[in-house]
Parts: sequence; structure tokens; C-alpha cells
Amino acid sequence: MAESVAEKLTKELCYDAEHAMKSQMTDAEVKKADKFCDGYIDFLNAAKTEREIVIFMKEKAESLGFKEFDKTKKYKAGDKIYKVQKNKAIILSVIGKRPITDGVKLAIAHIDSPRLDLKPNPLYESEEMALFKTHYYGGIKKYQWVTIPLALHGVVVKPDGKKITVNIGEDDKDPKFVITDLLPHLGKEQEKRPLADGIKGEELNVVVGSRPFKDDKASNLVKLNILKMLNDKYGIVEKDFLSAELEIVPAFKACDIGLDRSMIGAYGHDDRVCGYPAAEAAFNIKNPAYTVVTILTDKEEIGSYGNTGLDSDYLPYFLSDLALCFGAEGRDVMTKSECLSADVNAAFDPTFPEVMEKRNASYINKGVVITKYTGARGKSGSSDASAELMGKVRGFLEDKKVVWQIGELGAVDAGGGGTVALYVASHDIDVVDLGVPVLSMHAPFEVVSKIDVYSAYRAFYEFFNLK
Ligand code: MN
Ligand code: MN
Repeated sequence: MAESVAEKLTKELCYDAEHAMKSQMTDAEVKKADKFCDGYIDFLNAAKTEREIVIFMKEKAESLGFKEFDKTKKYKAGDKIYKVQKNKAIILSVIGKRPITDGVKLAIAHIDSPRLDLKPNPLYESEEMALFKTHYYGGIKKYQWVTIPLALHGVVVKPDGKKITVNIGEDDKDPKFVITDLLPHLGKEQEKRPLADGIKGEELNVVVGSRPFKDDKASNLVKLNILKMLNDKYGIVEKDFLSAELEIVPAFKACDIGLDRSMIGAYGHDDRVCGYPAAEAAFNIKNPAYTVVTILTDKEEIGSYGNTGLDSDYLPYFLSDLALCFGAEGRDVMTKSECLSADVNAAFDPTFPEVMEKRNASYINKGVVITKYTGARGKSGSSDASAELMGKVRGFLEDKKVVWQIGELGAVDAGGGGTVALYVASHDIDVVDLGVPVLSMHAPFEVVSKIDVYSAYRAFYEFFNLK
């Protein structure tokens, strides 16, 4: 049957984001997406915390010829540099052919994820069980963190500066940890609590042991036994917890989700799911026209504060130092620069449609999501990208056939959230959020679509590849 006028006009005039496999991606491209995600899954399992990710990316960068940035050096097109920011953030850059004063292309993702941090004085014994007190980091639904296997990652720093790295619970043979919950038989009162209080902050206590040290002369022998084991393995004593950063994260590994293996389930997709593709784009780009910069930053989940977060001057310091290498002013570089703030958005969940506005929500498998503005209560806290920048980003995505969609973080006044975008915009850099839609965001086990992860990679790569 011939196409009617209305059908023809609908095609020409109307817009509807579609599942990528409907007409935009061939089977061969879907295969490429799946293959790209094999690497992503390996990365997810190899590095879970900001410190581990910095080490992972630094090693990979060095193996690809990236050299530590030296602001006294002269750089030329094609040079590859990196800078580690105090062990918890890393900058990867490839020098472009254009003058630095044409601006740089930035992709900035964060590598911290919601988790439970050990308190400064965490270890205690109660009823012959040893436990860790925790203080949660970032926005979590506390009830989700009980009765799942947990791992302990981090560092302990001795007064003399010696640093001890801790990683327990990731190897299949390793013991895991757990936070217990009340049995339903005795949970009648607990079940009357509002969901937000179902598990309270001071109930997030991690079980670490239950056998006593063999001696009847002292008390708290279960705790003592744990301290003895930690001392044997790491040479630490209880006081060393005071100068440590120990983080409790889910112990399970990343895996395919669905019979069709279309999705990935893992801890901490937010925001490794943008960080990995943004780093890969910097690793794979060849002879870019513009200087490209990928930043994997810390502290986004608690407001980007601290000198490893983007609300510090390490970004303008780096760009100013880089500008100086070419005899230019940092501000002249920044004002011409453009940034994809690479962060996740909430994917439409058919089980919870009421918090979304369907026409402006992002969906899994519809590609990378551009978020013009975030914020809450009337866009408050958002840098709100300009139509000019939106047009430009749309332009190169469509030109390079990257599958993309727009997305708002939930319906108006349903809630909201923020990213690092405003801290980038504050340096006079044009910025828009672009990333991957996530189901169950901030849960211990989040879900993304492989097609969207690959679309994010293609978006960062083509952004870096602009002439
Ligand atoms: Mn995020
Ligand atoms: Mn987040």
C-alpha cells in the first residue's frame, strides 16, 4: 500500500525517540555494542572505588603512551598526557592540532558511587559478635543494603605516611560481609515504619566476625580476634582506623541481565557507565583537531565538594597550566571550551511510571540521553544548557548517526537531582549533561542497556572527533 499523505507528513514533521534496534542500529552494530560492553564488565569487576579506578585508568593510560602532565613542558599535537588529582580523580588528555585558544572538548564523569563508609572508630563487639559502624555516602535507600554480600575496600594510612591497601570480598575465595535484617516473624513494628526508616542509619552495622580469641583473661574477645587477624594480614591496630578510608560496597560481580543478555546488572553504574566510555574515547581518539580532555572526578555523590570534586579549582588549574604550555591564558581557553557532563539519568521504569512524564523521560535502548537541565523545584541548581549548545550536540550526534534521546530526571516536582555541570559552567565553559539511562539508580545493583553504553561511547568519541 502506498504511503498516505498523513503518514508521509508524520514521518517528516513528528519526532518520537525509538528503540535503537527498530531502524537505527543494524545487527552488526548491536554486536559491536555487546563487544564493547564485555570490556566494560571487566572494568566494573576490576575497579569499584574512586581510588581503584584512578589506578586502573592510570595504568591503562601509561600502557597507551600517556605521560604524566608537566606544566613546564612544551606539547604538540598528538601528545597524550594524564594528571592524577590526589589519588581520587584523573585527567586524560590528547593534544589537538588546533590552537589551544580554540578551546578544548571535555567529557567529565564521576567515579565515586553511593556506598557505606566505615566510621572513624568502627569496630565493636556486642553479644559476642563483632561489627563495623558505618555512615552512608551519597543518596541511598538504606533498606536495600541489608542481607546482601558486601566487600571492604580502601586504604589505611599510618602516622608515618605508610599506606596499606585493603580489598576483602572480591575474590571468589574471599569471605564477604553482611548487614542483617529482622525476620518477618518479629518485624511487625518495623514494618509499620515509613520505608525511609525501614532500616535506619545506625542500623547499618556490618557483621565481621563471631569467634573469640582463645583466652579467658580479657573481655571483647571476638573483637580482639578480628583485630588480631587484621594485624596479622595488614599490620594495623585499632587506632589506625582513625586515619583510614574504608568503604563497604556490594560484593557481587557485574553480569548480563535478561534472556536476551541486552542489559548489564552491577554495582556503581552511576557513574562508571559514563566514566568508562569517556576514558575509552580519550584512549582511542587519533590526532584530534581540538585538544580533548576526559576527567574522572570524585565526590559528585556528596555534592562535588572537596579538592577531588569538581567544585574545587583543580579543573581550572589544569586548563590554565595547559594553556600556559602554549603561552595562552586559561580563561581564553575555558571560554571557548565545550563539555559533555557525562552522567546518568533515570530510565523510565514500567513498574513505577507515576514519577515520570512519559514524553520527556529517557528509556533504556533508546540511546545516550541528553539532559538539558537537572535540578529540582523549577530547575533550581541546574546550569540549563543553551539552545545553541543543544543544537550543536544534536548536530554532531545526528551527523554521526549516534543513537540519542532527551530525558528529564522525573516529572516536575517529583524530585530531582544534580550533576557536575554547574561547576563546569561556573568557569564559563559551555556544558550539557549527556549519559546513560539507568534503572534502579543508586541501588546496590543497578541496570543499564548495552546499546546505551555503546551509544555513550560513540557520543564521546564523535565529540572528541569534531573538526
Ligand atoms: Mn551520577
Ligand atoms: Mn548518583
